[in-house]
Amino acid sequence: MIAETAKKNFLTWYYTEHEKGKWKKCSKCGEIKLAHNIYFSKNNSSKDGFYSICKDCRNKKKNKIVKIVKRIPYKGD
Ligand SMILES: [Zn+2]
Repeated sequence: MIAETAKKNFLTWYYTEHEKGKWKKCSKCGEIKLAHNIYFSKNNSSKDGFYSICKDCRNKKKNKIVKIVKRIPYKGD
């Protein structure tokens, strides 16, 4: 986890100060994050090659779906 944070901090610095990278606003949480596969999942059908919502939001969405599925009562018999 620490290494992951360090990597993100480095990338943020790198694309801010060194190489002006592309930044992307997540359409879900509205946070502006680096258009990099560490923040956004790749999506080949998208214009810029990434999903419009960040990985965090995608993961949250996934977890939510799992929870909903688990909550559905069994209606057998
Ligand atoms: Zn987001």
